[in-house]
Amino acid sequence: MAPALVNLAYLIAAVCFILAFKGLAHPRTAVRGNLTGAFGMLLAIVVTLLDQHILGYTAIFAGILVGGSIGALVATRVKMTSMPEMVALLNGFGGGASVLVAGGALVVPDRVSDAPQLQMAIATVTSGLIGAVTFFGSLVAFAKLADFKWAKDVRFKGQQVLNSVLFLAALLAAAEVVRDPSVLAWYWVVVGIAALLGVFLVIPIGGANMPIVICLLNSYSGLAAAATGFVLNNNGLIIAGSLVGASGIILTQIMCKAMNQSMSQVVFGAAAVGGGASADEVYGGKVKSTSPDEVAMLLDGAQRVVIVPGYGLAVSQAQHAVRDLANLLESNGVEVEYGIHPVAGRMPGHMNVLLAEANIPYEQVKEMDEVNPTFAQTDVAIVIGANDVVNPVAREDSGNPIAGMPILDVDKARTCVVVKRSLSPGFAGIPNPLFAADNTLMLFGDGKKALLELVAAIKAQ
Ligand code: NDP
Repeated sequence: MAPALVNLAYLIAAVCFILAFKGLAHPRTAVRGNLTGAFGMLLAIVVTLLDQHILGYTAIFAGILVGGSIGALVATRVKMTSMPEMVALLNGFGGGASVLVAGGALVVPDRVSDAPQLQMAIATVTSGLIGAVTFFGSLVAFAKLADFKWAKDVRFKGQQVLNSVLFLAALLAAAEVVRDPSVLAWYWVVVGIAALLGVFLVIPIGGANMPIVICLLNSYSGLAAAATGFVLNNNGLIIAGSLVGASGIILTQIMCKAMNQSMSQVVFGAAAVGGGASADEVYGGKVKSTSPDEVAMLLDGAQRVVIVPGYGLAVSQAQHAVRDLANLLESNGVEVEYGIHPVAGRMPGHMNVLLAEANIPYEQVKEMDEVNPTFAQTDVAIVIGANDVVNPVAREDSGNPIAGMPILDVDKARTCVVVKRSLSPGFAGIPNPLFAADNTLMLFGDGKKALLELVAAIKAQ
């Protein structure tokens, strides 16, 4: 294929990616945005396959068949609540692919790349370094999200010093690769050190900082891909990788701002452990449980209700029951809105996706900054399966894992009803004084079941 034609196709693909980002910025245009991005990627892949003669088509199609089948199987089987783990793994695979492709380019440079030697050597080590940090960091993030005990916030003295030493060692080994790319062993030394760095960078992070780390790893996977683009001298990969890298960094910044953290605090900050009050001290004799009938009576006199969804809503798949409850309340003249915390659930936008799935009107879905000032004028806040994002200890500077994170101020509503199965803690693993507050009633039960019972109780009134 003529190089001009290939680059034109890559340009069209890049325009599609940018339009895709624009579309994905709003729920109404998200599906179209997704399709536009997928079309751009298909175009880039087809053009690359037609242009390159690295492998025979049999090997390429065998790869597509095997990879595509595994991807399709996993994607259709994965539970909605396990999506974050899957995203973590997919980020990691992006990084891992960059490590292997860049390593392959070192083995057979003449067959895969026409890039100048210095560009190729620098790009190769960059790809290997960032790719390995991404792959191994993402595996740890996966383990944390999947709740593997060994991956729980592991911290030890001198962790930051160790990370700095590893980073310096990786840079020194990288310099050797650039000096003489024909000695392949140095490349794998870089990858090995970067692997350790990836593990040690992510292993101490937990609690409210996990969403930020996932965004950051997503950004790294893009940067690794962009570096691989320079290895292969492939404009399509450079553009696509840079877009993922840049958008990931922007999302990371947005999440940091929402969490009242700086990026360096997240990556290098010594996250806090425990030290707070025990569950017995927080809850002892103070928790008031309620029933669907009692909540139905409470809602009968309400004029404004704010519904706050959390991870438990996703677990119990209660989004349709929530919509039924809201419809019923609205038909009784109650004003209903939804308050969404930026890190509610287990992935950015988790709650928005669930509510959109149940066709809940976008204009009723309010972000934290918008809804917080309205809680004082709210009769009932209904918290469904949320815990950390409504935990008032975040306001205290007590060194707890969510200290400093802005929360949804549901405790300022006249009455707060919390729907969950028990007094178990949320992701951050700490007790929540909201459950013992004077104006809180606990409606214990599975989110969906409790809401269906509540709807039935309101109808029976
Ligand atoms: P939490 O994890 O704090 O709490 C979820 C609560 O849901 C639990 O306390 C649990 O209580 C309850 N629950 C579980 N299953 C059910 C069910 N079937 N029915 C009703 N309730 C149920 O969730 P939040 O959304 O409040 O906070 C999110 C947390 O996850 C934050 O700490 C955030 O930092 C972290 N995180 C967020 C990510 C993101 O990108 N959004 C990514 C990674 C982590 P019980 O067992 O008693 O029912």
